[in-house]
Amino acid sequence: MEKPNEPNPEDCCNSGCNPCIFDIYEEQLKLYKKYLLNKESVNVTPQDNAISQLKYTGFVLVKNLPVGHLHHHLFFKKKSEDNMKVSWKPGDHFLYKYNSDKNSCTRAYTPLRVQNEQSLISDFSIIVKKYEHGLVSSQLCNLDEGSITFWRGPYGHYNLQCNKFERIIMIAQGTGIAPFISIIETILNNEDELTKLILIYCCKNENSILFREELYSYKSYWNFKYEIFVSNASLPLKCRYQEPIKSHRFSSNSLLPLKPFTNNDQVLICGAPEFNMTYKLYLEAEIPEVENIILF
Ligand SMILES: Cc1cc2nc3c(=O)[nH]c(=O)nc-3n(C[C@H](O)[C@H](O)[C@H](O)COP(=O)(O)OP(=O)(O)OC[C@H]3O[C@@H](n4cnc5c(N)ncnc54)[C@H](O)[C@@H]3O)c2cc1C
Repeated sequence: MEKPNEPNPEDCCNSGCNPCIFDIYEEQLKLYKKYLLNKESVNVTPQDNAISQLKYTGFVLVKNLPVGHLHHHLFFKKKSEDNMKVSWKPGDHFLYKYNSDKNSCTRAYTPLRVQNEQSLISDFSIIVKKYEHGLVSSQLCNLDEGSITFWRGPYGHYNLQCNKFERIIMIAQGTGIAPFISIIETILNNEDELTKLILIYCCKNENSILFREELYSYKSYWNFKYEIFVSNASLPLKCRYQEPIKSHRFSSNSLLPLKPFTNNDQVLICGAPEFNMTYKLYLEAEIPEVENIILF
């Protein structure tokens, strides 16, 4: 077993991740100390992931696709040519290392494996929202194909358990849809899953709806239902046959048709901090088991 490298302060993305990169380092360090004391009795899991939680790995940007006016879909392939695969659990995130002459820092992004032609030439992809004055998002969106980038991970606290809940209700705002895409695909691709999935997806305008084609295609599964709420819709909305898009802002009233909530429901919320807190507080008064409400 190798001694783990201590992360630098700028390796933490300061987003309150659980576990944080420093928690993972502490755990690995404890394991390493135990290993030095008694090498035989410590069960060291071999490294079988092409991305590591404890050191940065190089990935080449193979495709940079603009999506609407605000987002880019970036596809990455590992630099080294071994047979190891990049793996992660649904809902996990990776950390991206930003470096410039002036400073260096880290930001979290949610890996995706979307089934399209780019996925054949990449190991993972991310959807990035470009903030006008955003340090890292604007650098990522402007990266040239062929650039080398550095990533570590996966990190995350969500554990998907087959058939644990009758319904998983996901409430997403903007790029908050990213972790839910992996969760939806994992459940829909598992024939043993009987969990019903309900996705509520809030967007500013029609142009910023992500994964619109994918969501429409999931509609054919018996256990998937969704609604997209567009707060600044330009009317009339151009929708496909029975595409469930509403031209108004989402509010807690929109959750009334899902009542009654029970202990067999799990609710996942992923959006801006204020959005997350509003719906967490509302649902805490509705759902008996508050641990079933998970913020991403
Ligand atoms: C677990 C997790 C997963 C995530 N997954 C994704 C994902 O899949 N996709 C994604 O796009 N994001 C994701 N994020 C968010 C991402 O990590 C970054 O926070 C985001 O890209 C913004 O980073 P930035 O450096 O571009 O912006 P920052 O430079 O950190 O700025 C953030 C905000 O402040 C504003 N701002 C910056 N400078 C100024 C200034 N001088 N004056 C006024 N306002 C200013 C920016 O416009 C922006 O609105 C995730 C976050 C977490 C915690």
